[in-house]
Amino acid sequence: MAPTVAIIGAGFGGLCMGIQLQRAGISTYTIFEKAGRVGGTWRDNTYPGAACDVPSHLYSYSFEQRHDWTRRYPRQREILAYLEHCARKYGLRPHLRLNTEVTAAVFDASVNRWRVTTADGQEEPFDVVVSGVGQLNRPRLPDFPGMSSYEGTAFHSARWDHDHDLTGRRVAVIGNGSSAAQIIPRVARVAGHLDVYQRTPNWVIPKADGAYSPRERLAFQRVPLLLAADRERIFRFIEGLVFPVLVGGWSRRLIVKRATDHLRQQVEDPALRAKLTPTYPIGCRRIVIDSDFYPALTQPNVDLVTEPIARVVPHGIETAGGTVREADTIVYATGFQTTDFLAPIEITGREGRRLHDVWKGGAEAYLGVAVPYFPNLFLLYGPNTNLGHNSIVLMIESQVRYIMGCLPLLSARGPMEVRPAAMDAWRRALDQAMARTVWEASCHSWYKNAAGRVTNNWPGPATVYRRITRAPRPGAYTFG
Ligand code: NAP
Repeated sequence: MAPTVAIIGAGFGGLCMGIQLQRAGISTYTIFEKAGRVGGTWRDNTYPGAACDVPSHLYSYSFEQRHDWTRRYPRQREILAYLEHCARKYGLRPHLRLNTEVTAAVFDASVNRWRVTTADGQEEPFDVVVSGVGQLNRPRLPDFPGMSSYEGTAFHSARWDHDHDLTGRRVAVIGNGSSAAQIIPRVARVAGHLDVYQRTPNWVIPKADGAYSPRERLAFQRVPLLLAADRERIFRFIEGLVFPVLVGGWSRRLIVKRATDHLRQQVEDPALRAKLTPTYPIGCRRIVIDSDFYPALTQPNVDLVTEPIARVVPHGIETAGGTVREADTIVYATGFQTTDFLAPIEITGREGRRLHDVWKGGAEAYLGVAVPYFPNLFLLYGPNTNLGHNSIVLMIESQVRYIMGCLPLLSARGPMEVRPAAMDAWRRALDQAMARTVWEASCHSWYKNAAGRVTNNWPGPATVYRRITRAPRPGAYTFG
């Protein structure tokens, strides 16, 4: 009999898991989604300018490629439509439980099953739990003094208030990461004045975006090989050129030059340029890929504020020097709570072990997928599987294939639990590979936890991860 599977989350990961179960003829699964719609991060991030900086032909499932992406880099709306299309096409709808938040999952060793609890208090047993909650799903707000005294309109970039018209307003955007870089040009176009609060400058390289012509799209439709070849070309290009940057390899100087040329070409004012020049090694934090960010900062209605924020006051923001800058709208483009994997779900494994206790020193999982003492629990986009250089969809597909390979094993031999020794060996290999990366340099980023451990990123090429997750190694697990 096929195992019953609870999938948490209906973003790229959860949907991919559902699709592969469906394709394998396994229909004993439920996808729990706390929101009313599928799409994960692409449902939540609707801010103006939201788009992906991985090319369209690569930022999609390998088994569901589209010839008709309208642009070289997909915009949020098109990605969301793509995910909804996938859910429909592969028949996931009857398995989706929308508006249903999973709050807890407890492994009951007496029956070898997980008891999954949802926010409405319902409990349901499952053989297997697959988490697809991702790494960028919980907005992080700063804790500036006075935030609650603010009398204007304030919201996080991932909770955009579309009813609030920014035309002519005095807007403050806090942050300058990938989200802010996309938001700022759009806001600058309509706002009366825009203050951009930057704490740390980022390395920025241009984005070679543009629309596909109808002829190009027709060619991709008529000649599927062309589409497949383009996908492969993009993959190899990123893997071959960008990955080496992260380990101080051959292309580092090339990318540094690309970024410094980009800054010089787009920003004439030497004082502004100096403020925008990073002092940490390229790649240590996520590289911003955008061609509109710098030009927006040179607009007469835009100021780049680099003085630290002291507090929020009722009508604006006070900086460390005591200057109050008026703002009737504050956009917190301040990122996500990235290192508290799976929070706030309470996961309890064998012997009453709580996942959040086990991960107190930093989240970790064998292959980013399995954790000792948590039998039949599998993670998608788990610890150390984020990429600093390539499409995360590739990683998710590798993980789903791996989990699909586990299902026959656990069906035949009972619940599978990764051995602590396998976890230790994995940690050692990871540490060794991590030591070669630029993330170990002294920059802060969302890749690291408070103790400075890189808990989010995969330190190797995507091809290596694909290879080592090709099939589960039964020797790494105990069964039954
Ligand atoms: P982020 O990269 O974490 O950036 C957050 C920004 O807020 C940073 O500039 C940070 O400054 C600033 N900030 C946070 N707390 C602050 C404080 N207390 N005071 C002052 N500034 C503060 O978040 P994000 O831009 O939302 O991007 C997160 C990730 O989402 C990206 O790295 C990327 O992986 C993904 N993303 C991808 C795309 C895409 O095109 N594919 C688009 C958007 C997002 P510091 O830098 O000094 O910490």
